[in-house]
Amino acid sequence: MIIHLKEGISTEQADKFAEELKAIKIAREGKTILVTTTENGGLNGVGRDLVEKVYEFDTDIQLASSDYLVTKREVSIGNIQIGGHLNNTLVIAGPCAVESLEQVEKSAQFLKDLGISAMRAGSYKPRTSPYTFQGLGAKGLQILDDIRNRYGLKIVTEVKDSTHVSEVIEFADVVQVGAKAMFDYAILEACGKSNKPIMIKRGFGATAEELVQAAEFVLSGGNENVIVCERGIRTYENKTRFTLDLSGAIYLKHKTNLPVFLDPSHGIGHAYGVPDLARSCMAVGVEGLLIETHPDPSNALSDSSQQLHHEDFKVLHKSLKRVGDAIGYRIV
Ligand code: PEP
Ligand code: MN
Repeated sequence: MIIHLKEGISTEQADKFAEELKAIKIAREGKTILVTTTENGGLNGVGRDLVEKVYEFDTDIQLASSDYLVTKREVSIGNIQIGGHLNNTLVIAGPCAVESLEQVEKSAQFLKDLGISAMRAGSYKPRTSPYTFQGLGAKGLQILDDIRNRYGLKIVTEVKDSTHVSEVIEFADVVQVGAKAMFDYAILEACGKSNKPIMIKRGFGATAEELVQAAEFVLSGGNENVIVCERGIRTYENKTRFTLDLSGAIYLKHKTNLPVFLDPSHGIGHAYGVPDLARSCMAVGVEGLLIETHPDPSNALSDSSQQLHHEDFKVLHKSLKRVGDAIGYRIV
């Protein structure tokens, strides 16, 4: 249940009411808003005189629901806008991980020449095996900072755990909460206190609803700039790395007010299939695509099999524009 309070209610009154309703209090566009669950008993007639409007929900998808905000939230990434009625698709490309200055520099030069505005590269890498490359950590963020200053690219980079969450929030243009970090409530809480754009990737064992619930943690913490990203779930299919759930993404597109990204690279896990899947993603009409491309994929330190050669990415990028034209979406 989302309750918009009337104007002019004092902080003390709002706090007392929030306590009675066991509600979370947030501010939105100058309004004081309380969010609670009907399991806490609902309004039951108390404080009716404080209330301007009530939105009732039968699930805990509330602030993110398209029944609450009919129009998609607009999120600004520096001077780039996505969401709303804009029909903009932000193509975020780049290597899986920051490996060296030289490797990131080659990537940045390539992307800039192609007119791409946002680069992805993880420096805190959540790896399944402890024996593989774990990322450069803080040193990698310094490399990315240097690249951002020199190439003017927006940087999308991930947070792995809460020990460095404030560092990544401070640094990134978009904070990526990875599939394995989706259920890390310390990360979600810290992201809620910031106003940076936060992109939450769906855990491969999580339902689309659980992904939206993770987004609700950030929204109810007071951060409006939340994006959800479908990147593939685990199914019985084992010829592909994961199964990209386009149906789930379409549910997110229509039933939530959150910008939606799709990640075909992790979805299929093999470079041969990324262009076909990326074009399918583009055809859905979403706010962003996340595509891995590396200057030398066969020697990449992580996700080597799925990263596109720059030349292949270039061809793909051209065709994505044509798919966008066909459905009325513009690549930004
Ligand atoms: C990534 O984007 O490189 C990544 C680790 O993604 P995910 O969290 O979806 O596995
Ligand atoms: Mn990766």
